[in-house]
Amino acid sequence: MSNLGVHALVWVGGWSHKECESAISKSAELGFDYIEIPALDPSSIDTKYTLAQLEKYGIGATVSLGLPLDCDISSEDPEVVARGEVLLNDALRLTGEIGATHMCGILYSGFAKYMQPKTERGVQNSAEVLFRIAEKAKLENIAIGLEVVNRYETNLLNTGAEGVEMVKRIGSDNVYVHLDTYHMHIEESGLSNAIRACGDHLGYFHVGESHRGYLGSGNIDFQDIFRALAEISYSGPITFESFSSSVVSADLSNILGIWRNLWEDSEDLARHAKTFIEEQIKAGSETHRDNGSTI
Ligand code: MN
Repeated sequence: MSNLGVHALVWVGGWSHKECESAISKSAELGFDYIEIPALDPSSIDTKYTLAQLEKYGIGATVSLGLPLDCDISSEDPEVVARGEVLLNDALRLTGEIGATHMCGILYSGFAKYMQPKTERGVQNSAEVLFRIAEKAKLENIAIGLEVVNRYETNLLNTGAEGVEMVKRIGSDNVYVHLDTYHMHIEESGLSNAIRACGDHLGYFHVGESHRGYLGSGNIDFQDIFRALAEISYSGPITFESFSSSVVSADLSNILGIWRNLWEDSEDLARHAKTFIEEQIKAGSETHRDNGSTI
């Protein structure tokens, strides 16, 4: 059975002490197992205070980030790559300090719309840095998730199959593909095909609608997705991710293009999402059992 989490930006746009306690307490109240904390700027997070709140409310955490272009480890410029490795090390330290289990997101390239394709040298630079990061992460039992995102947010990993290739190139056994239904809907040739292509390499999963709002109110075929997750026996984390212009994080919302107000009541949104995901998991596993019994 997967752990269910919720992205912090469902609750808060920043990570002041007040925002930190509010986001963690509300996630716990609704019964989520963990909260995913965005760490685009690791220095903005008070790790001691965050750990204390996680312990106080009894939930876990994961950390996610994307690299700014001046820290792009898929660059051909060694200085840019080196800056990216420093940032990833900072984020990994933070991940360990708050006792988080996963560091994920667009860790392998800039989090931006590229105006040119990836290069072989750049991909190799990225794989070499991530190998070193993953080996350090392994010492603290931290898993690394490479989030496959759409073409407007990276030029490197747009499909699950590309994610698997990258995981193999890096070659550490704690590096996984991180899929996100919002991005899959844009890029994949079939949602379930992407999940099957990842198989055991899938280690982190974001559930989000096609417009980033309430689950079930957009275009994504969640039935197809959760049947496929059951088929590959996925048991890793599942995070609900949703963004609205009613909760703004300047560094994240602006890159993601969150201009519309798709919800205002975070609590209603998150409560609905948890029920929705639990029902989908249940239906997916029952379908899989039924299919299995008739073969
Ligand atoms: Mn995502």
